[in-house]
Amino acid sequence: MRASPGCKAVLTPKESLPGLLDSLRPAYGLAGPVPLGEQTVFSRVDSAGQLKMDYSSTMAPPGKLFLYPSRENILRFRTEGESAEVESFPAETAKTLLLGVHACDVHAVVYLDKVFHNDPFYRARRENTLLVAINCTEPTPFCFCSSVGTGPFLRAGEGYDAVLTDLGEHYLVELVSDRAGDLLRIEGEAVGENVWRRKAAREEEVRGKITKRMDVEGLDELLLRNTEHPVWSETADSRCLSCANCVMVCPTCFCHDIVDRVDMALTETVRFRHWDACQDQKFAAVHGGNFRRTRAARLRQFVMHKLDYTAQFDTMGTVGCGRCIQWCPTRIDLTEMAKEIQRSPGEKPSLAR
Ligand code: SF4
Ligand code: SF4
Repeated sequence: MRASPGCKAVLTPKESLPGLLDSLRPAYGLAGPVPLGEQTVFSRVDSAGQLKMDYSSTMAPPGKLFLYPSRENILRFRTEGESAEVESFPAETAKTLLLGVHACDVHAVVYLDKVFHNDPFYRARRENTLLVAINCTEPTPFCFCSSVGTGPFLRAGEGYDAVLTDLGEHYLVELVSDRAGDLLRIEGEAVGENVWRRKAAREEEVRGKITKRMDVEGLDELLLRNTEHPVWSETADSRCLSCANCVMVCPTCFCHDIVDRVDMALTETVRFRHWDACQDQKFAAVHGGNFRRTRAARLRQFVMHKLDYTAQFDTMGTVGCGRCIQWCPTRIDLTEMAKEIQRSPGEKPSLAR
């Protein structure tokens, strides 16, 4: 797999990268994967030496963590007598170099770009974030990115500025965007045919480690014909706790609620948004009732949004990271539910979406 036309590629010793990244501070804050106990988490760091690039997965997805925080203030209203004043909270404009994002999580950011293309808070962060991806080498047993075409390696495409590939003592660095080319002055050897072959071999090796698979051919239409399949209630009634972990760790879940919090003197109100979750019992509570009262209906909504509603953004809602399976306390697995429907389709008339 070659770099895309116009993309600069170099082979650079791994030890040269931290010095280069640190030289970009303080113009760019640095964030990336760091070890925390037995886990890896994405965090801001003071030095590139703190990063752990050969990680497997993180509980919180980097895109949401840095571009779409779990709570965000939007507006403040102040009233005094007859007068009222409305003030927007400013969008964050600090520049961040977000390093070490896996292919699945880059695809999730591209998905969020579609959702929040008009959102000033998201856009300001996105435009000020230089996204340097790394091709994944340590898939978890829950990963199924190779089935949905989002990994483990990135294809030349949109959504990221540069991508690293771990080739032993060296990184293959592909600089995709102009701003990455301007900012990351990476010294290294020119990349010849042998390096592209090593990259292709590395990708095949990593693909071989991915054990979870899902056949997505025709899956969206099949699921839509099976909204009343027994797998929904059998799984939900016996195992779903409505804890919403699956939504919280999902890199593409974008639902949020907007709340006005009024102070005790009734003079100042802060409007903020915070993540919401269709797995939460109150999510579908509206005037006059709740249109998803059962756990089965809520579980089905989550799974359908990941695997079925491809028309919404012209892609599946899942990027195959497997976090919803890994962090579900009862290990409910959307790929297993899909396989159960593929094994015994009911072909019932579909409900409205
Ligand atoms: S799966 Fe549920 S919480 Fe996630 S984006 Fe869809 S409706 Fe929202
Ligand atoms: S994490 Fe598992 S148990 Fe919790 S709401 Fe999601 S599917 Fe249900």
